[in-house]
Amino acid sequence: MDADAIAGDLTTVLYTPDQIRERVGELARDIDRDYADKDVLLVGVLNGAVMVMADLCRAMQSHCEMDWMAVSSYGSGTKSSGVVRFLKDLSADIHDRHVLVVEDIIDTGLTLNWLLSNLTSRGPASLEVAAMFRKPDAMQTDIDCKYVGFDIPGEFVVGYGLDFDGKYRNYDGLAILDPRVYN
Ligand code: 5GP
Ligand code: MG
Ligand code: MG
Repeated sequence: MDADAIAGDLTTVLYTPDQIRERVGELARDIDRDYADKDVLLVGVLNGAVMVMADLCRAMQSHCEMDWMAVSSYGSGTKSSGVVRFLKDLSADIHDRHVLVVEDIIDTGLTLNWLLSNLTSRGPASLEVAAMFRKPDAMQTDIDCKYVGFDIPGEFVVGYGLDFDGKYRNYDGLAILDPRVYN
């Protein structure tokens, strides 16, 4: 869906589909370059990363494999609980693999911190992170995110895979959700 369809629920559109597509293309070129001599395994974090994963891997010009894991940290609210629940593990054995975690957004970074230490314990050859969006609070956690699409304000956003209570994931841009919707 486009912004017009949900205009009454949004305060500010931060990025249009065109702006997102252009930035994803740039990230794909960086990743192609950095993994030119390596086989990369893209690990998507469900459900939020489905859109960025689908667009990023298609914008890449080199081979990649894909795998998925699912964790839950928000419940249905708009604040990170800090408690991460493991809902689905990877299918692949990542030992000695070059792993690139693909994330929708890093807010507090609590979820990713937990995820990275979990993945590190499996002995990958390398482990990096690509996040489409990053909020200012992420800076407080010591996460080295090699590829970042956009740094955004610290408000609750929806679209491009990001939901509120299961909705707005299929909105094609990124926008700040009007607090009236969740208050
Ligand atoms: P963190 O642990 O970094 O605070 O957040 C982890 C997860 O919470 C993200 O992967 C994402 O699914 C969700 N999240 C964080 N900030 C937002 C936001 O502004 N909007 C939405 N819809 N989800 C968010
Ligand atoms: Mg996520
Ligand atoms: Mg969510």
